Amino acid sequence: MSSPSRTSPSAPPVAVDGAWGLASPRGRVYDSIVQTVGGTPLVALPRLVAEDDIHACLLMKLEFFNPLGSVKDRIGAAMVLRAEREGRIVRGRTVLVEPTSGNTGISLAFVAAALGYRLIVTMPEGASMERRKMLRLMDVQLELTPSRLGMAGAIARAEEILRQTPDSWMPSQFENAANPEIHALTTAEEIWTDTAGAVDIVVAGLGTGGTASGIAHALKPRKPGLAVYGVEPVESAVLHGEEAGPHGIQGIGPGFCPATLDIAALDDVVAVSEREAIAAARRCARVDGIPIGISSGAALHAATQLARRPENEGKTIVVITPSFAERYLSTSLFNGLA
Ligand code: PMP
Repeated sequence: MSSPSRTSPSAPPVAVDGAWGLASPRGRVYDSIVQTVGGTPLVALPRLVAEDDIHACLLMKLEFFNPLGSVKDRIGAAMVLRAEREGRIVRGRTVLVEPTSGNTGISLAFVAAALGYRLIVTMPEGASMERRKMLRLMDVQLELTPSRLGMAGAIARAEEILRQTPDSWMPSQFENAANPEIHALTTAEEIWTDTAGAVDIVVAGLGTGGTASGIAHALKPRKPGLAVYGVEPVESAVLHGEEAGPHGIQGIGPGFCPATLDIAALDDVVAVSEREAIAAARRCARVDGIPIGISSGAALHAATQLARRPENEGKTIVVITPSFAERYLSTSLFNGLA
């Protein structure tokens, strides 16, 4: 494979249709879909900012521009490629095993198919049909575990499969250092380059915490005063000392503090309710034409609150937008819309 040399979205646009002002941020041929990860655009919300009379520069980093549609494509590729480099796994031989009910499974699935690995995913049987079918489409072996056992049941079953399967390896997104590292190397670098260092605040939902921690590690030493805020669900505000609980903001709020989350690197954690997250996500689609997922809505809600603080007037606020609305067709994001 040739080395990736993506055209940065901040590079001068290549005019492909002068009349329409369309521009291609890509402009090269890729050897594999795995090379198309990253290089996601930063996009303003001009109409929402005007409606709310916000005097800060609010920019959404649209991670659903990744090939399989979420921020997790970065770690799906990074965890596998790093394990290869370290000689832990071999294409065509090693079986990958991961417990995940979310975007990480879909991201590992395309990387596994593209690079020639078998993948076994364990997930609670309540996981949405869209996700299950996407995994099966990419030839993933799916093991459903009883809903009443939650994610703990899926983790226990994955560990059992790992013990029973020769040449198997678990990426372990909640523990793998390649997770925050890829965000420091790529997500943070893209934000820095595309804003020409003007970024003052980054807001990111906390699942594994890899996105927020990696960005904080890379950017805070470069700019004194730059702040990184995490976001967790009010309904499971464990980082505020509350009990873990069920909530509807998929992808964030795992109910514990993972090894991949460096809480000391963050400036604060904002708690957002599912209702607030959904209202913000719906508004983003309606007002600026960007249909975002529920955790993106949570981050946007927190960012608009921060933007209204007098001390943040004139600042540049980047909101990490992990996924696209369509991955949540069967959830409360679409209630009453059919
Ligand atoms: N939102 C969604 C939809 C996600 O899939 C994830 C990843 N679990 C996150 C937010 C949080 O990202 P991270 O794991 O890097 O904290």
